[in-house]
Amino acid sequence: MIECKQFETFSFKTPAFGGNEPNRLCWYFNARCRAKEWMELRVVGCHGGETPKHRTSAFVVDERLAIDAGSLTSGLDLRAQYRLQAAIISHAHLDHVRDLATIADNRCQVDCEPLIVAATKDTIQVLKKHFFNGKLWPDFSVIATKARRPTIRFQELKPEQPVELAGYQVRAVSVSHTIDASGFIVRGADAAIAYSGDTGPTDRLWELLNAEPDLKALLVEVSFPDREQKLATVSGHHTPRTLLKDLKKLRRPKDLPTLLYHIKPAFQREVEQECARLKGVNLAVTAIGDQYVL
Ligand SMILES: [Zn+2]
Ligand SMILES: [Zn+2]
Repeated sequence: MIECKQFETFSFKTPAFGGNEPNRLCWYFNARCRAKEWMELRVVGCHGGETPKHRTSAFVVDERLAIDAGSLTSGLDLRAQYRLQAAIISHAHLDHVRDLATIADNRCQVDCEPLIVAATKDTIQVLKKHFFNGKLWPDFSVIATKARRPTIRFQELKPEQPVELAGYQVRAVSVSHTIDASGFIVRGADAAIAYSGDTGPTDRLWELLNAEPDLKALLVEVSFPDREQKLATVSGHHTPRTLLKDLKKLRRPKDLPTLLYHIKPAFQREVEQECARLKGVNLAVTAIGDQYVL
């Protein structure tokens, strides 16, 4: 069943894959997603930490484009892992890249096409030097799959330059974190969604989003409660207070469905309560397994 109309005219939250029997409405949504009229966003992991009930950041659009890779293997079955065409990586912190290691290993065993790992030059450099370096993990950009193609292929994203990836136009936008970090604007045929990546207060992202037509939803991070503002500031993250201030840089924040992620497990309840009190915005907290049709 369609369990909730999260944003009335904008989007529908559908049951998780593998959940209840799909109903006719779901098939209708899926057909329209396949026809590229709508985008389906699946929440694989949406937390700023990990426990058996919390997974680090990873989202999938229409089963083929991953946004960050914090839980791509802990949260997706093998077939879903094989279906992915590209992963856009916001920055090199482990909670956003860790499952690149295991998805590369899994895809290597079968005749998958190379998984495109797209990120800024800085992020790719860190991944090559410190991650797929033949020490911490094998270099899967060299190791071939059963189909004798490299398991992963790096693709550099230049800030604000649109690139075609997995059938979408993707733009990286620099944001404000402790290392080089990007948000993304992902545009399909008739709709676009935006992703903040890890960021504290920033400006350019909001300027670009104000100029973006057909923006259906924004995934934005919030990590700490207001009382941990110092920690949020030094670690380049938002509290509900700074998030509200940033969202007010949008021309019509109330009209934009805004999906929150990256809450630290220790503060989940507190941050949710503080966000529930924010006025003039249209917020929902994401949960593992959520699916949105946008
Ligand atoms: Zn980070
Ligand atoms: Zn993070």
